[in-house]
Amino acid sequence: MKIINFKAIIYPLKSGRGQNLFLRQWFFLIIFTLLILRVFPSAIVPGQKNRLNLTFTLSMERPHTHYFQVNLQITGLAADYLDLKLPNWTPGYYRLMDYARNVINFKARDEAGNSLICSKTAKNVWRIKKGRARNVFVDYDVYAFNVSVAESFLDDSRAFVVPASVFMYPDGYLQNPVKLKIVTNELLPQIYCGLDEIAGETRAFYAPDFDILYDCPIYVGQPEVLQFEVNGVSHRIVAEDLGQVPRIKIINDFKKIVETSITIMGDLPYRHYTFILMEGGGGGLEHLNSMAAYMNASVLQTPESYKNWLAFIAHEYFHHYNVKRIRPEVLGPFDYDRENYTHMLWVSEGITVYYEYLILKRAGLLTNEEFFDRISRTIATYENIPGSKIQSVTESSFDTWIRFFARSEEAMNTGISYYDKGAILGLLLDLKIRHENSEQKIFR
Ligand SMILES: [Zn+2]
Repeated sequence: MKIINFKAIIYPLKSGRGQNLFLRQWFFLIIFTLLILRVFPSAIVPGQKNRLNLTFTLSMERPHTHYFQVNLQITGLAADYLDLKLPNWTPGYYRLMDYARNVINFKARDEAGNSLICSKTAKNVWRIKKGRARNVFVDYDVYAFNVSVAESFLDDSRAFVVPASVFMYPDGYLQNPVKLKIVTNELLPQIYCGLDEIAGETRAFYAPDFDILYDCPIYVGQPEVLQFEVNGVSHRIVAEDLGQVPRIKIINDFKKIVETSITIMGDLPYRHYTFILMEGGGGGLEHLNSMAAYMNASVLQTPESYKNWLAFIAHEYFHHYNVKRIRPEVLGPFDYDRENYTHMLWVSEGITVYYEYLILKRAGLLTNEEFFDRISRTIATYENIPGSKIQSVTESSFDTWIRFFARSEEAMNTGISYYDKGAILGLLLDLKIRHENSEQKIFR
């Protein structure tokens, strides 16, 4: 908000009487305007948008077709046209995904049921000419059949919703609150996600803005659910297949990871947390109060692979501190249209790798030997690739958008992993801090 130069206007009040009266009128007009701006800033500031009522209804009537049905009701829009946008990527997964490729049957109507003219103005933008319509109802379908933590999935056994790939936002209204209703069915009856439920309603959730909506993946199905509390805060493990591992062991190990992380950071910054664990794939994605991961129950069978799996869980969990709350400036609020470049992923990812080792060690889930073995293997992985002589850790971070998920056969010769080198830098920083402070201060 830009405010006029106040001093330049009040100085002339010292001149003649007629001019004085004229200037006083201006003076009070300006004071009045400034007061109005202070009390009702949204009423006057150019470009400020009014608040909309936005309600999504997500249905999955025929799961075997792999299509979600999305309805969006918009109330309160004053302009005579509206641009709806679907993000091109989802935070944490640094790659343009072009989710709009999965959208079909886009249409809009007014409250009387009249069709409104719609046209695409960019690959991820739909323009609706709403004219005088007070309410706009939008319908579209989204194809979802990829096994990835960054893509939605739907079949008879599971609905996994990556919100950025399904829910469109009105351009200019990313900060607008959102209501989400989910229509379940016999095959997919239960809903789990990090969103808060709306009191007094069933299967209805609230997000204070689209950043929060996009940060909360949604699982719908009939999973096994384990629960535990830490410091009175509820944690849910929502899992499709945990094999033969005694459930009390899984609960205790997850609890140790959470408790150790809280001891390290001295804070428990959420009201509930959900671990979403799906069978039949790989990869995990971190969120403010949840994580989503694919796995194979076979990794739970040997002590070594089980510990690797716990390290993976600890990594995704610890991200709710490092990258979701302690983060590079560009990583939130996000620009969902394009790449959000940062040189700092070696801190966000690499130091999280270092902490996944530390957490397991301090939780008693790794021995000293196992801890140092992981450190030495990470150092060896970094030093033994030719790319370590070519690419810096900050360059690796910046170029992740074009190189991380599109690794060629030449990748190891020309580039490095900011996961590996970042973990080593985390270790070196820790040792340096300990050395400089005679072990009085440590890297927590
Ligand atoms: Zn990570």
